[in-house]
Amino acid sequence: MEIEKDKDYEIIVFPNQDEGLRAQRILVEREIGFKHISTLAVVVPEKTYQDICRLLTKEDALISGYYPFLYRDYEGNFFKTVREYKPSGKEDDYLKSITLCYVAPCMADEKKIRLIAFLDRDISELLPYLNAVIKGASYNKNAPTLTYAKERRLINLYNIKITIAKADDIIDAWKVLDEIKALINKTYKNKDTIKPSYEEKIKVTALQIYGWLPKSNCKVCGEATCLAFACRLLLGEQKLENCKPLFTDTKFAENKQIMQEMTEALGL
Ligand code: SF4
Repeated sequence: MEIEKDKDYEIIVFPNQDEGLRAQRILVEREIGFKHISTLAVVVPEKTYQDICRLLTKEDALISGYYPFLYRDYEGNFFKTVREYKPSGKEDDYLKSITLCYVAPCMADEKKIRLIAFLDRDISELLPYLNAVIKGASYNKNAPTLTYAKERRLINLYNIKITIAKADDIIDAWKVLDEIKALINKTYKNKDTIKPSYEEKIKVTALQIYGWLPKSNCKVCGEATCLAFACRLLLGEQKLENCKPLFTDTKFAENKQIMQEMTEALGL
């Protein structure tokens, strides 16, 4: 199937390469038109994606989610990146697999996606070691979670789960997941030479928090500006719930989710 610039398409995402290939085989057998973009995802016309999802589900294929395919984002390097992408993984790795269980568009920025992926083992014991090696990470030993930013993406590592917000697309998301997997395995391998850090560093700055707020300076929270609110939130002198627009205006739903995860991870 060829992608035409002026038509609407959706990307359907699968939880892992095996499931992706199985689903694509079903589509080929049924002679259903789709564009293969990786073992993890296909592009289908917007008007057919619901029927296709229904059919795949009926055939017991697993789907992680779908989101609109934005042609303008993928010109040039997108398909090249897909062709060059090589998943890594060895039999004796500490962490063997990551399964993408949920993917959806960011509500505040429809050009980005958010996702939840599950690990094939509990990595709680490794979080203090990762806390020591990831620059700018923030560890919360009660949760336990490790939160850090990779450029504009916000990453949370839990015991058996990873959440990523504001990934560019499925290829970007999978590359980041693959990097995290490699980092976890490398950290485990070098564990004896790393001094674990149990320090609950707050490396998120007020300016980063400000970036997720509505930035309207409406004063509903009792602060003169959103930046003042961000500073006091970091100091533990404000509660996230006091930013009413964040909770009531649906256009900030994604930001609210990110802020809730961030404040939980930071123990604020
Ligand atoms: S309520 Fe929210 S949007 Fe309004 S000033 Fe406070 S932080 Fe900013």
